[in-house]
Amino acid sequence: MEFKAAVLERVGAPLAVRTVKAGALGPFDVGVRMRASGLCHTDLEAMHGAVATRVPAVLGHEGAGIVDAVGAAVTAVKPGDHVVCSWNPHCGHCFYCEQDVPILCDRHIGAHRDGTIGDGAPRLALDGAPLHHFMAVSSHAEYAVVTEASAIKVPAEIPFDRACLIGCGVMTGVGGAVRMARVSPGASALVVGCGAVGLNAVQGAVIARAEPIIAVDLSAHRLELARKLGATDLLNPTRDDVIARVRQLTHGRGADFAFEAGGGEAPLQLTLEAARPGGTIVILGKTDPSKHVSLRFGSLMGEKRIVRSSYGNARPQRDFPWLARLYLEGKLKLDELIDRRIALDEINEGFDGVKQGSLVRAVIQFS
Ligand SMILES: [Zn+2]
Ligand SMILES: [Zn+2]
Repeated sequence: MEFKAAVLERVGAPLAVRTVKAGALGPFDVGVRMRASGLCHTDLEAMHGAVATRVPAVLGHEGAGIVDAVGAAVTAVKPGDHVVCSWNPHCGHCFYCEQDVPILCDRHIGAHRDGTIGDGAPRLALDGAPLHHFMAVSSHAEYAVVTEASAIKVPAEIPFDRACLIGCGVMTGVGGAVRMARVSPGASALVVGCGAVGLNAVQGAVIARAEPIIAVDLSAHRLELARKLGATDLLNPTRDDVIARVRQLTHGRGADFAFEAGGGEAPLQLTLEAARPGGTIVILGKTDPSKHVSLRFGSLMGEKRIVRSSYGNARPQRDFPWLARLYLEGKLKLDELIDRRIALDEINEGFDGVKQGSLVRAVIQFS
């Protein structure tokens, strides 16, 4: 099968929309006609080399579409099903899956590194040579081949451009609050950084019935979005003494649950300082993994529980249909997260917007 895909040919180059090929499906493969694919910051990190990626590769890991065909052993989905792709396929019975940390699944952990969907063999080709997957999905393309554990059926009523967001940013943020931190009703929540992940951590805090929900960002526009999604108090470090204000709002103690979603040293330090003694800190933001960060040691003390999460402790089979239903019931806001809808050919302009920080989400729509 031939189709158009956005290919990263080498690190540092813009993406090239090329005609690529997919071979016959393996027994556990699912062929998906992509209908929408979100532009996530992690794609940009791959383009700039901050995330190690085998090239050439088809980028994209936040996709939704319709199942076109399935391999002979696939039982979870059938042609015609609407699916959201998970970038964390997991086997369910290895050491880490049994420890309830499926993000580290022994069977699939190598897939991202190797640019495959799990079993080593490339599924795509460009000019007759192997073409790698990115994060086991490669959704910036008209068609994708994913493994069965990555094709998660969702209700057909949810529009594709909103459904795709569940596959990364929504899952990571909502899951960070609900699945990883397990925010309790009435607890205070602080979210530092209101990009796609932080805004969804705000939504996770709303779902968990936290109060107050304090959002911190440098952008008035993003703070306004946080308010629309349920934040009760908005703080801008250029104007507010964030730590003092958080303490005022939390009986002088600091936040019960604090989420770092800004990336880098300053947001991380602020999050640690603004959490209360004994509070829970979830680090969702990213810094170049090769870089050292410097933190005030005292801010790590006080019996704080500090965890890092890449995917909000996702169980995609459990969580994606749940998140889709929340949207359909009006309890999860997705329309507000999309700034721009683009065609595949406009992908580089879309990533320019992601780089400038002017977009929460641009979504590629395929006809
Ligand atoms: Zn992502
Ligand atoms: Zn596993």
